[in-house]
This record gives sequence, C-alpha cells and structure tokens, in this order.
Amino acid sequence: MADHYEVLGVSRDASQDEIKKAYRKLARQLHPDVNPGDDASERFKLVTHAYDVLGDEESRRRYDMGGDENGGGFGGFGGFGDIFESFFGASGGGRSARPRSRRERGEDALVRVDLDLGDVVFGAHRDIEVDTAVLCETCQGSCCQPGTAPVTCDVCGGSGHVQRQVRSLLGNVITTQPCGSCEGYGTVIELPCGGCAGQGRVRTRRTVSLDIPAGVETGLRLQLPGSGAVGRAGGPHGDLYVEVTVAPHPVFSREGDDLLATLEVSMPDAILGTTTTIEGLDGTVDLELRAGVQSGDVLTIPGRGVTPLRGSQRGDLRVGVQVVTPTRLDSAQRRLIEDFAKKTKAPEPHLAQFQQGLFSKLRDRFRSH
Ligand code: ZN
Repeated sequence: MADHYEVLGVSRDASQDEIKKAYRKLARQLHPDVNPGDDASERFKLVTHAYDVLGDEESRRRYDMGGDENGGGFGGFGGFGDIFESFFGASGGGRSARPRSRRERGEDALVRVDLDLGDVVFGAHRDIEVDTAVLCETCQGSCCQPGTAPVTCDVCGGSGHVQRQVRSLLGNVITTQPCGSCEGYGTVIELPCGGCAGQGRVRTRRTVSLDIPAGVETGLRLQLPGSGAVGRAGGPHGDLYVEVTVAPHPVFSREGDDLLATLEVSMPDAILGTTTTIEGLDGTVDLELRAGVQSGDVLTIPGRGVTPLRGSQRGDLRVGVQVVTPTRLDSAQRRLIEDFAKKTKAPEPHLAQFQQGLFSKLRDRFRSH
C-alpha cells in the first residue's frame, strides 16, 4: 500500500495542522461530486484513508512505528470502503447511493497586469477586464426555464443509480451504476433555460476593480478568492489570479526595497563640490556633493525606495556617483588642464588593487552598508 505521507504529499515531520490542510486541499480536488471518474474516486479513497491514519495522533504514532494501522478497531480498509460508499455512492454496492450534484465549483481564472516602477513604489489601482462564466440571469443558476424545475428521473427513481444483475462464475451479482437516463443526477431537466443552454451560467466580460499593493515584482500572482468563474448550476466561484509584470525603468532599478541610480557628475563639480536637485519617483530631492567626491561614492536618501509587500517602512534611494571625464577640449581648455597638472604635481599613474568596474564597486559599497 502507498505510504500515507506520500499520498498526502507531506513530510514525515509535518504538523497535524499541515496534514489537515494537505488533506482538505486534496479532498476538494478529488471529491467524487467534482470528479465523477473512477481514477479520482480511487485516489480520494486513498487520501481519505491516509488522513484517517495520520490525522489522529495516536494512530499516526502506531503507523510511524510500523505497527498495524488498523489495530485501533477502525475496521480496516474494506470497512472503510463501505463507509465511503454509503457516503458518496461512487461505485460498487451502495445501498444508500446518492445522486450526483449538478453544482460544480467554477474554474480559476488568470489575468496579467502591466505595471511601471511607480506602481511598485506606491501601489496601484486597476480596473481589469476578466472574461469568465457568470451566473445566468435568466435562470439564476437553476438551469431550468423560469417557472419550471427538474423532475425526478423515472428510470432510477431519483437515486441517480440503477442496479443490474450480472451473471458471474460466483452466481448472480448485483452491481450499481450511474443512471444513464439522468446521468446520475437523479433528476431530469425537461425544459432547459434558453439563456444558458441549461448550464446555469454564461461566459461574459466583466470589470474587476483591483488594488495592487506596493512592493510587488514581476511574476508575482495575487490571489482573489471567489473572483474566478461561477460554477456550473450556480456552484461556488473559482479564484482569480492576477500576475504582474513590471516594466524596466530607464533610470531607477530595484534591489530589494531600495532603488538604485547613477549620478553623473562633471569633473569640475566633483573637484569643487556642488548642490543639485534630482527628480525621484515621488518629487525632487536636494543633494549636496562634497568637494572631492569620487566615482563610486554612494549617496543614500532614506525612505525614498520601495514600500515592501509586507510592511510599511520604505527602503532607500541610493545614488552612485560617476565622475565624467571630458573627452573634447579646445586648445585654451587644454592649456588650463596642463597648467593645473603642473601646479598640483599630480601623481604618476600607479598600480592599486583591481576594482571590477564601477558597478561592482557600487554594489560592494551597498552591501557594506
Ligand atoms: Zn439559464
């Protein structure tokens, strides 16, 4: 028999809470009312059985020790199967088999939203178009023409199942099968709703109003429970997932909750120092450059970065200085620089430790903060 932990997809040291959650999730997926197939119902049995063993501290302990999992008087797998069938009437000799439900859970839906960096910093509001099934207004999910109702199937008498006698080597055997006349529903819709062809729902485009929190990043999916498609015959809604894509910004890039940019500074400004005003994503910031500022120096503007997804404290804006060497000088400028070099007795070029370009130099300095 399959390992119960593997069946539930949990680790051997999973907490009771994790086991319960894993079971609920699988049970929803595999429930016979949702999945009429034999495969799903077999898996559902396995999953439910695994949970019966692992969901109880005492029987889990026995199972972990390799003991007889059914020793607790539960009645073994066969007994369990009977209980299962009396509840769900999926297959076999169900004495009290129940008809299938027409109601099904609706599908999940996925939409994509494009954002820019400003949306990431401050959060954003979007009205997005979603194309999913919604409740049929004509029948309100009943699937029947207004004023009519499903009638009891006269083949199975409303049970959704028929019994057949089959000859076998062991003699006559009674088997129970879904009723072919009502497809196992126990009722028949004689006058299907014209608005939805008897489905209880129609496909339509609608607008969903969405608040996107600050701090999201490309690939992140926001889940909106119950905003997906409505189920067949007015069944519960699926969920809506919104996947965000953030366009690159021409100036600012994001690292964690911080924003990074480069400030290009002319040689005279770097030598003499200056004040300047830069345009952040949310207004201007005054910066003071000290005289003698170097390429690779980083100026930190606190609280001008990104608001984290879970939190309210904005990161910082970090500006890395890059001194720009002039490349075209006229003869007068050239004389000035030569004069300057003579007077300052500038050192000869000399070796120092290797630095991997400005950007890695910047990154190292960010890290050391
Ligand atoms: Zn309808």
